[in-house]
Amino acid sequence: METYIPGILDRIKGPIALAFSYQAEDVAALHLLLRYTPKSLELEIFTLDTLKLFPETQGYHEKVEAFFRISIKKYYPLPDEAQKLEEQLGAWGMRGSLEDRHACCHVRKVNPLRQALAGKSAWVTGLRAAQSLTRKGLQILEYDEEHRLLKINPLVSWTDQDVADYLHTHDLPLHPLYAQGFKSIGCAPCTRPVREGEDSRAGRWWWENPEHKECGIHLKKPE
Ligand code: SF4
Repeated sequence: METYIPGILDRIKGPIALAFSYQAEDVAALHLLLRYTPKSLELEIFTLDTLKLFPETQGYHEKVEAFFRISIKKYYPLPDEAQKLEEQLGAWGMRGSLEDRHACCHVRKVNPLRQALAGKSAWVTGLRAAQSLTRKGLQILEYDEEHRLLKINPLVSWTDQDVADYLHTHDLPLHPLYAQGFKSIGCAPCTRPVREGEDSRAGRWWWENPEHKECGIHLKKPE
């Protein structure tokens, strides 16, 4: 498995951020970043707390912080927007239509991400091309037009096995829901374990068509 992270980071001047969303891939990306980020480069590890995460996620959050001796900054939806959404959709209403689901992701993920990336020069993700149909054309380096900064996907060509091997080799902690058949960790109302033979993101928004399975934070603007 390859990563080009040292060569890329050496060329970046401003602060960078890792979007940590509790995936196995994110743990590998975090480990790589802590190893290769030059001391002169400011690095923020952040997560988007949608207020809809699994109860197990908070315990895992604390475990990762203790393991790496880091602090993971949480960004939240704006309270008035989240409350309005809850009143409109209720606890499970995001499953009612694609439009409602996008509205929920927009308030709970897209808007907080904008806040998290403000003032950064680049953001790093654990995205891989093999994860799903929506990620097939992924590149290691992309320009994020929406947020006007560089997006770095150091694990772009990694396979499921590469990720598993990396975590095993370095004895890195895994979210406890992986042991219950989950292959991707998201919000509780929108994530379930995957079945044999399904791709790793099949458990996310499982009631939707595969081409819709993104929350909006990794979508490119239409050309
Ligand atoms: S994944 Fe589901 S609960 Fe989470 S923000 Fe999107 S629609 Fe809302």
